[in-house]
Amino acid sequence: MAGGKHAHFVPCMVCLAEDSQLVKAVRTYEGVEDDQYHCVRGHDFGMDWRRGPADEPQWPPDPAMIAELGPPIER
Ligand SMILES: [Zn+2]
Repeated sequence: MAGGKHAHFVPCMVCLAEDSQLVKAVRTYEGVEDDQYHCVRGHDFGMDWRRGPADEPQWPPDPAMIAELGPPIER
């Protein structure tokens, strides 16, 4: 279960941290406490969902993030 149904797509944490860009990542493995993701630019990373599954879709990013970081990159 981990991130749940709303966490199938998320912004890539690596692109966000290194390039301050919103890049789409898809879940490649759903675990009990964390999920694994692969972004369209090739990063693999894990997200910890121990605090509970996402309560709303994680992609597209919310308008405030897009306003700050620029248009989301989907491919
Ligand atoms: Zn990435």
